[in-house]
Amino acid sequence: MAFEAVIGLECHIQLRTRTKMFCECEVVFGDEPNSHVCPVCLGLPGALPRPNGGAIAMALRLGIALGCDVRRDSVFARKNYFYPDMPKNYQITQYDRPLFEHGALPVTMDGEPRSFELTRIHVEEDAGKSFHPERHGDRSLSRVEFNRAGTPLLELVTEPVLRSPAECAAFLTALRKLVRALGISDGDMEKGQLRCDANVSLRPEGASLLGVKTELKNLNTIKGVERGVEAEIERQRRALEAGERIVQATLLYDADHDKLQIMRTKEEAHDYRYLPDPDLPVLRVSEFEIAHCRETLPELPWAREARFVSQYGLPAYDAAVLCDARELADYYEACAEGLDPKFVSNWLMTEVLRILKEKQWEIARWVEQVPPARMRDFLARAQKRELPGPLAKQCIGWLADERGSVDELLQRHGVEVKGTAEALRPIVRAVIAENPGPVAEYRSGKQVTFGFLVGQVMKKSGGQAVPQLVQQLLREELG
Ligand SMILES: [Zn+2]
Repeated sequence: MAFEAVIGLECHIQLRTRTKMFCECEVVFGDEPNSHVCPVCLGLPGALPRPNGGAIAMALRLGIALGCDVRRDSVFARKNYFYPDMPKNYQITQYDRPLFEHGALPVTMDGEPRSFELTRIHVEEDAGKSFHPERHGDRSLSRVEFNRAGTPLLELVTEPVLRSPAECAAFLTALRKLVRALGISDGDMEKGQLRCDANVSLRPEGASLLGVKTELKNLNTIKGVERGVEAEIERQRRALEAGERIVQATLLYDADHDKLQIMRTKEEAHDYRYLPDPDLPVLRVSEFEIAHCRETLPELPWAREARFVSQYGLPAYDAAVLCDARELADYYEACAEGLDPKFVSNWLMTEVLRILKEKQWEIARWVEQVPPARMRDFLARAQKRELPGPLAKQCIGWLADERGSVDELLQRHGVEVKGTAEALRPIVRAVIAENPGPVAEYRSGKQVTFGFLVGQVMKKSGGQAVPQLVQQLLREELG
């Protein structure tokens, strides 16, 4: 029997606020443990939480960008559970009245526009972190770190509308792109700024009822999500084909060993005893705030990608790569001005991205070193074939490492460019003057001599001319 996978994702997005969700402590990654804490985020008795307006404004940007219904009066709730990294013994989250419902994330897959429906997005706080067990001599102990406790999070839940691991990867890639474009999160999965759980079930192809689902926790790379979901689909398919029943369970995916491990089955599931948080007022969002947010949204990644295809005539693949980060897309647009858009795209996608990877630079560092005007100067000369291919590749490396114009760089590295049209034209004219015989033959229709003339120019230029440019100049001069 053929089975169909039904997948829903739960994503946690860490907001890029300066301070925590309900107190004034700074959000910092990697500082001295427990150096950014206060009575509120430690959950000391009598401390009163106060919502972070900046976090709510960021949440609004995401909800409105995704076309969600905005609840004008949403409610913070306590989710009760006991865990050492949660000293209040409850997490402040939203339950039956979340800030957003519905909406959808547009995703382009293999050049096809798709759209994945959302159930809800709500605001909550992050927990602390436990490190355990650690060995100290003959004792083993656990440590708890609260710098992360109270960090603002958005939880985004999709409808069970995804059907394959590839769709999950595409969804997360698009979500990461969106939060970066909106400037609300860095979306770095390695740093836990974007986390994902997946609900997976199988059903006979064509069936409408849902099968028993399992939950995959802590998938912390996009590849990990893809491979974890793949492994779980495979596990369930084998069980179903062997006539077994799927047990509702929570699983951990070990990316290093490509293995699934069952953490707990349904019998041990929590009852969180949600209740509205009596310390926090109803969260009201005004029409004015919504309208203001709508007006100030930047061009959204999917709209920009579509525009790159229509305005610059780029392939969908190029548009997707260039729009992956807003800074890269901005840089592309600044560089492409007045040049061949596909030519510029090729240089950015291959050479610039390669150098960034090699140097482990952010795009901002590159833009600082090679501002658009400097890059345009280089690209214009490469496009006119004044710089032969290998030299152009060397030259872009110098641009990254050194100061100065393209000419200065060439001079500094002792490269004599006879490559420009201005430099080559006299050589072309001289070759024509020195070879009246072959020129007459060419003019009478003997194409073979053209190759001979090109060779003569190449020789005279010391082999540094670009053949295509030589051909073009010869044709011009021969009329
Ligand atoms: Zn605090």
